[in-house]
Amino acid sequence: MPLPAPELAVAAPRPLEDGVARMSTEKSESSSVLRWPGVIELAQRGNVTPPRRVEKSDAEWRKELTNEQYYVARGKGTERAFSSEMCALFEPGRYNCLCCGTPLFDSTTKFDSGTGWPSFTAPLTPDVVAYHLDTAHGMQRVETTCNVCDAHLGHVFPDGPRPSGLRFCINAVSLKKAKSPE
Ligand SMILES: [Zn+2]
Repeated sequence: MPLPAPELAVAAPRPLEDGVARMSTEKSESSSVLRWPGVIELAQRGNVTPPRRVEKSDAEWRKELTNEQYYVARGKGTERAFSSEMCALFEPGRYNCLCCGTPLFDSTTKFDSGTGWPSFTAPLTPDVVAYHLDTAHGMQRVETTCNVCDAHLGHVFPDGPRPSGLRFCINAVSLKKAKSPE
């Protein structure tokens, strides 16, 4: 399946009635699966309340993280493609936020996207990942961050596999794999 043009990746704002109708239609199909219209809605209108908050000063994050970790997780950087063996790892377990330890993704939603970055179809729970419209680098994309500590995770695209159709393209540096499922 070809990648959609970047300018198509972000839908235009829709009137409220349409959004509400669309969401309720989806709800009858599957209430728990987040899909692209839901992602756009969150990015445009605001994210859900996080389960908790972790807030530290820039100096504190600098002290706790390596230069590369700080560059990616706090500076919205991107690691080189295929720079982590995490892309090819599919053992059971949770993927936690590097910065605050919040479980963000589960191995059951991980898939091999061939992009060189760890890829998932869904967050572990709807409240742990936040979405932001990102127009940096001349592209229209949706940035993903940890909803608890605001760490930059990566981006989400509407070209993932079923059931969500989403591809969470995440920097391995921003994640810490927990050894076994809880
Ligand atoms: Zn975090």
